Amino acid sequence: MMDRTVPTLYLVVPCYNEEEVIEKSASVLSDKLRRMIQAGQIKQDSKVMFVNDGSRDHTLKLLHQIAAKDIMFSVVSLAGNYGHQSAILAGMMTARKYADVVVTIDADLQQDIEALDKFLAAYMAGCEIVYGVRNDRHSDGAFKKITATAYYKLMHLLGSQVIANHADYRLLSKKALDALSEYKETNLFLRGLIPTMGFASDVVYFDVKEREAGHSKYTLSKMVTLAMDGITSMSVRPLRMIAIIGFGISVFSIVMSIVSLIDWIQGNNVPGYTTSLLVSLIMGGVTLLSLGIIGEYIGKIYMETKKRPRFIIDSFVWKTDSPIEQKAPLEEKKEDA
Ligand code: UDP
Ligand code: MG
Repeated sequence: MMDRTVPTLYLVVPCYNEEEVIEKSASVLSDKLRRMIQAGQIKQDSKVMFVNDGSRDHTLKLLHQIAAKDIMFSVVSLAGNYGHQSAILAGMMTARKYADVVVTIDADLQQDIEALDKFLAAYMAGCEIVYGVRNDRHSDGAFKKITATAYYKLMHLLGSQVIANHADYRLLSKKALDALSEYKETNLFLRGLIPTMGFASDVVYFDVKEREAGHSKYTLSKMVTLAMDGITSMSVRPLRMIAIIGFGISVFSIVMSIVSLIDWIQGNNVPGYTTSLLVSLIMGGVTLLSLGIIGEYIGKIYMETKKRPRFIIDSFVWKTDSPIEQKAPLEEKKEDA
């Protein structure tokens, strides 16, 4: 086991229209960091790094006010709404230049911040990645509960290594972040991607609470998109299933052709309207579904070939009370593409 020194911890917090909760979050998160600094668990220069994901409300203004009063806060503001996954990535890629460990956590305080102690303990014990896994889903509605369970089942069936009930509350060490920065794909599904990297890892269990304020920023369509992306960016098994179904139907149709030919030769061919109707309906459905699935992958290839940036940083606030480091963020920012 390696010897670890007390790390500089950055909390990366994506925020999209979180004006109702952001001040409360800022005080709860910084309070926790201060207590950890006091206890000697993390270094003095640890920070809370908010990532404003193109909020349309007063979130950015509030974040700048919060950061102006306290150098413990840093604000990365994206040029638009790039979505939760890209916001987290932007935060992690910025934070890795300053931090030894980064923990990503939602802005709504649903994830128990006290679990940070366990995350840190796992890191000190030698883990590069620590996954936060929720204890149960009592704070979710029945619909979310059922869809989530079915989704994890489906993901495993399709061969993805996602960890059940792990959202994006996780710790990554500097080493893991540097490795993650080598993955250049546009279609980013962190929950599926990070487990494929390897590294020593552990799981920390935490309780999920009700949202502190505001409402869920994950609309049904954002959820469906994330779910679809999760499957198509991690696995090509749906394509293989199409091939298998196609093979099955081909075998079936050869057998049916022979049977109906024999029938015809023997002179007992019946009208069979229903049969022809059903066959053409089913075949039409299967064909379109298959085309749709293939189309999803083509769309992914299309987006990948464009090699567009996954996020664009519009502004960045980062302060230090150490005069030597004062200039660092400006130089660092330029190399960010
Ligand atoms: N979020 C984001 N961009 C988006 C949607 C959400 O950065 O387009 C952030 C949001 O501010 C929150 C986190 O992602 O910090 C999780 O979102 P939310 O709590 O609304 O999702 P839920 O907990 O309901 O799944
Ligand atoms: Mg939430």
